[in-house]
Amino acid sequence: MSVRRVVLKISGECFCPAGGRGISMPSVMLLAEQVAKVAKDDNVQIGIVMGGGNILRGGQFKANNNAIQESTAHYMGMLATVINGLALQDAIELVGCDTRLMTALPMDVVAEPYIRRRAIRHLEVGRIILLAGGTGSPFVTTDTAAAQRALELNADCLLKATKVDGVYSDDPEKNKDAQFYETITYDDVRRQNLRVMDPESIAKCAEHGMAIQVFNFRTEGNLERALKGERIGTIIGK
Ligand code: UDP
Repeated sequence: MSVRRVVLKISGECFCPAGGRGISMPSVMLLAEQVAKVAKDDNVQIGIVMGGGNILRGGQFKANNNAIQESTAHYMGMLATVINGLALQDAIELVGCDTRLMTALPMDVVAEPYIRRRAIRHLEVGRIILLAGGTGSPFVTTDTAAAQRALELNADCLLKATKVDGVYSDDPEKNKDAQFYETITYDDVRRQNLRVMDPESIAKCAEHGMAIQVFNFRTEGNLERALKGERIGTIIGK
């Protein structure tokens, strides 16, 4: 049986209730339970890239604080993803799956350094890998980190968990007439300037033909379905 390998991008907003900030362990447990169910029962290798927006986004923080340098603010955002990773690691292990927290920023006391071949090895022996620290470089977001990891880990698909059902022609929370797309090309996402993931991540996936599946993580069972490869949400491809 062929093994499916996915990289799942979970935004920081999934680590707390809708509209909240910080970390809420009940929200993290919900994520953990769904991920663990698939990891235990199905032939799916799972890498997770965590965002940090529930704690701090570098660009926003800089915009509101003159006293900070922009690069510093981005490093603070990267550290936020490690905080989320630590919480998710305990939650997933509590429900019985093996994990490794790997970080792009060296932080030996709490996490392994990200080393591609080691990450692949963890996946092959059934560990869920939690990929923190983004790319390790400022001025990009964890969307770009997710695209990067999906490519270098030879994932079958990049899964992007969001708070809407998929890709729309406009923000469905603001425009009731926004059109929903079951599939859309990378070029159309770029041409229509749809803010589904940051442009760098779309460009990277487009260049290398990495499929992106965008789905609503707040719909019960969706995370599980997406991990298993069910056709929900929107597929972005060629
Ligand atoms: N970040 C960065 N480099 C990276 C990944 C993230 O500088 O490779 C910083 C950036 O400031 C970003 C913050 O970390 O705003 C948190 O990540 P992100 O905004 O992607 O989190 P999400 O919106 O997914 O919760």
